Amino acid sequence: MTTTGTEVEALVGARINGQPVRPARPWRTTVIEPATGDPLFELVGGGATEARVVLDEAERAERGWAETAPAARAEALRGIASALRSDPEAEGLAVLISRETGKRIAESRAEVGLSAAFFEWFADAIRSRSGASHSVVPGLRHEVIQRPLGIVAVLTPWNFPVSIPARKIAPALAAGCPVLFKPSEVAPASALRLAEIIEAHVPAGVVGTVLGDPAEVSGTWLDDPRVRGLTFTGSTRVGKLLAAQTAANFTRNVFELGGNAPFVVLDDADPVRAADVLAVAKYRNNGQSCIAAQQVWVPQHLVDDFTAAFLRVTGELVLGDPLDPDTTLGPLALPGDPARIAEIAQDAARSGADVVTSDVTLPDRGHYARPVLCVNPAGGRAVEEEVFGPLATVRSYTDLGEVLAATSADRCGLGGYVIGEPVRATAVAQALDVGIVGVNNATPNAPVVPFGGLKQSGLGWEGGQIGLDAFLTWHTTAVGA
Ligand code: NAD
Repeated sequence: MTTTGTEVEALVGARINGQPVRPARPWRTTVIEPATGDPLFELVGGGATEARVVLDEAERAERGWAETAPAARAEALRGIASALRSDPEAEGLAVLISRETGKRIAESRAEVGLSAAFFEWFADAIRSRSGASHSVVPGLRHEVIQRPLGIVAVLTPWNFPVSIPARKIAPALAAGCPVLFKPSEVAPASALRLAEIIEAHVPAGVVGTVLGDPAEVSGTWLDDPRVRGLTFTGSTRVGKLLAAQTAANFTRNVFELGGNAPFVVLDDADPVRAADVLAVAKYRNNGQSCIAAQQVWVPQHLVDDFTAAFLRVTGELVLGDPLDPDTTLGPLALPGDPARIAEIAQDAARSGADVVTSDVTLPDRGHYARPVLCVNPAGGRAVEEEVFGPLATVRSYTDLGEVLAATSADRCGLGGYVIGEPVRATAVAQALDVGIVGVNNATPNAPVVPFGGLKQSGLGWEGGQIGLDAFLTWHTTAVGA
């Protein structure tokens, strides 16, 4: 980061061989602080020129990194994790995340800790790989080895600007793959700081970062057959554009896309406890999580008690500066989002929903939205769209089969929640057509478990051993006598 002399800091959005690089043809955008609506940084990104240079550098570094012993790669990952856990680094990153995205500071600190945990988990995962397996067929000896996939492009969203890159970059580096990193231009400073920390622990060229026109940067990489893998997290709309581009070179890919998570309250659930879990599953990251609870299914006879309890929790929310520890709901990241949430609520009202907008006090500036509950809309945006904000849809049911059918019919299948007696709730969770479910809890994700979406929520998995497999290839040799 450098200061321009004006009150807004300039961020250099291209990093090559561990250094910020002045872009050949600067691509500029202003990063806005959601809590104030004021400019926070002036991002000076690059484009195709820098994208090509980092790719050339990655190619130069590729062989050396692939041949670095897995134990040494694991050591590098452990160094990155230690840096992420050290002070003042950890706190500085958390503050940047909160200022760029509006995330509450406690959640930003947790995000930095989770990012470190991804580097630690994948350090252990690569150490514990045997690296080879043998099988015997009469007359032949089979040897199967795993090799690094090669250079991978890592494209990430703004809503978890450090932990999502960590979930991708840690296994790619562990596997021996160089990384071309393009974080989101909405929250670039924390991602650039992460890149800087990583670069300090790996050889030059192993990680290169370019922010700039998203389609130009990613297109330069995906058009080039030297790029063997793409791992993308973001909207389903952009995921589809990128999936089409990967067809040209059959680039291996992982897509983590949008969601519309069901939250199923069973008829034996305590409605007050269910409302408390929903408050976390809905309001985490100010409603802007891909696994945010959205379609809340409640047995007919519990709807009144449940909605009363949820509205009570919602009414106690304190909207304010994400850096203030007393804040329980921060602003939305994008300036247009409060109006978008209000439009979805109006659409729900038109489709027959009872719409209750909380009367919590709004700060007088920044991108804040009042929480909204829409009860029993007949359809429309609140049911079909990824809301990405503090609006929940409650639908009453009498037949659990109807809930499972509606979840199966939904185009998304990412996260879900079930609340009730644990054995029965687990069975319902395992019948849901989604990738990850919290039973009686709102935080199902962890570095050790696979995380991935079904249907239009994505392709492939991150986390766990399978998260490492995404960056490896299998190579079989059959040796005759
Ligand atoms: P987005 O799709 O707008 O942007 C994601 C990335 O794609 C950014 O780096 C952006 O610069 C880039 N991009 C945008 N347009 C592009 C184009 N035409 N060509 C190439 N790249 C392009 O998403 P967002 O608004 O940053 O993030 C929110 C979305 O991400 C939500 O839909 C959310 O559900 C999803 N998400 C999914 C997961 C998951 O694990 N499944 C996690 C977090 C967020």
